Amino acid sequence: MNHLPIFLDVRATRCLVVGGGEVAARKVRVLKEAGAQVVVVAPELCATLSAWKAADELIHIERVFDAADVAGARIVIAATNHSPTNKLVSAAATAAHIPVNVVDHPGLCTFIMPSIIDRSPVLVAVSSGGASPVLARLLRARLETVIGSAYGQLATFMARRRTLVRRHIPGSDDRRHFWERILQGPVAELLLGGRTDAARDLFAQELAEPTRQTAGFVSLVGAGPGDPDLLTLRALRLMQEADVIVYDRLVAPPILALCRRDANRIDVGKSAGHHAMPQEAINQLLVDLASTGQRVVRLKGGDPFIFGRGGEEIDTLVSANIAFQVVPGITAALGCAAYGDLPLTHREYAQSCVFVAGHSQKDGLALNWSALAQPHQTIVFYMGVSAVSTISRELIAHGLAPTTPAALVERGTTPDQRVLTGTLADLPEIVGREVVKPPTLVIIGEIVRLHARWASKRTAPPAALRATG
Ligand code: SAH
Repeated sequence: MNHLPIFLDVRATRCLVVGGGEVAARKVRVLKEAGAQVVVVAPELCATLSAWKAADELIHIERVFDAADVAGARIVIAATNHSPTNKLVSAAATAAHIPVNVVDHPGLCTFIMPSIIDRSPVLVAVSSGGASPVLARLLRARLETVIGSAYGQLATFMARRRTLVRRHIPGSDDRRHFWERILQGPVAELLLGGRTDAARDLFAQELAEPTRQTAGFVSLVGAGPGDPDLLTLRALRLMQEADVIVYDRLVAPPILALCRRDANRIDVGKSAGHHAMPQEAINQLLVDLASTGQRVVRLKGGDPFIFGRGGEEIDTLVSANIAFQVVPGITAALGCAAYGDLPLTHREYAQSCVFVAGHSQKDGLALNWSALAQPHQTIVFYMGVSAVSTISRELIAHGLAPTTPAALVERGTTPDQRVLTGTLADLPEIVGREVVKPPTLVIIGEIVRLHARWASKRTAPPAALRATG
């Protein structure tokens, strides 16, 4: 370890920055955020620094650096592009025993500035000891993804309750256990999900009965349409923290592979007899699992609230008084649109877009066909493959031209994605000829023309770069 990591209180203390360019401005920004009184020595200031000067947020000494400038400074930073000046600053500060940093010159520094993740009051600092600032920045970016933006709020919430907890739980071991339970349980999860009121109530309950079993928690998580890159940061974190994952058919194997390895996995899409578990049984299963204190992730394809029966599961959880949160996911329509070159709206072709469940019922589809068969509207049918003949017939009967462009997107966003295009009248024939299977979206409207237009304009890569075989 070549450096001692410390967090320095610089509030209302004089910190000197030598240099007036954008690099200096970046250092001044951090110092300002830490509450320092910033003094900048430079003959000229860049636009950012000038604006701060005008707003009285820094003191400007308008000339070249003089060794006497370091007097009284808590720290000194040199950020000029003039190497003799940088050396002079380093020598003057060192002689006065003031910590000094010279940007990009480790040899002239007595301290280095880390990459930081600011979730005030939580601060994470990362340094490569000057070996590779780029590596430190990449590490920081990784940590940014796991330390959600609400961690600051979480810390503030806990800080406000420390005295209260100390009064209620006198033993320090008991107190530590209590805090571990709070921070790894539903209270923290509710806070991170923005449900502050529910978190406050649950915290009060936990404090009133610190010995009761930790409450379980259910997260209804949207896993997106297939490509694991489309998961949200929160979805990924919850999948990696879960005790048990309840998933169905639509959740792609590469997504399941990202779940915590020793989490219990329950497939409710096709249980022993190859039949999906009835919805009521799934609802009850979630309640039972959470009642034993487990962190349950109910993983659903796409978004939980778009044809995902998420509402029914929440109904049961609410009745059983079990805490829950919903994490949105990218619904199939958005994934297929992006990966299939099918913009769902477009100034010229469509000003509205409707998502419709095309599930076939015995007595046909009970839909308001004339509301769907409107000009300048894109219609996206989920679960529509088996009802494609009805869809085609009814939309034509209610006024859409048989030549209206239509697309089928099978297994959108996965390596097996197929996009088939044709007309509204052709749809049933295409489904038969190409043996189209679920999960497939049926997308109808003028915007489908863009798919063909872009495909025809796209230039092929040079033959040498094309994969063969
Ligand atoms: N909650 C899900 C939808 C569940 S309904 C969501 O928000 O996406 C199931 C239907 O979604 C399927 O029948 C199919 O029409 C559609 N679907 C889901 N994933 C898909 C995919 N990768 N490609 C095409 N359609 C998909």
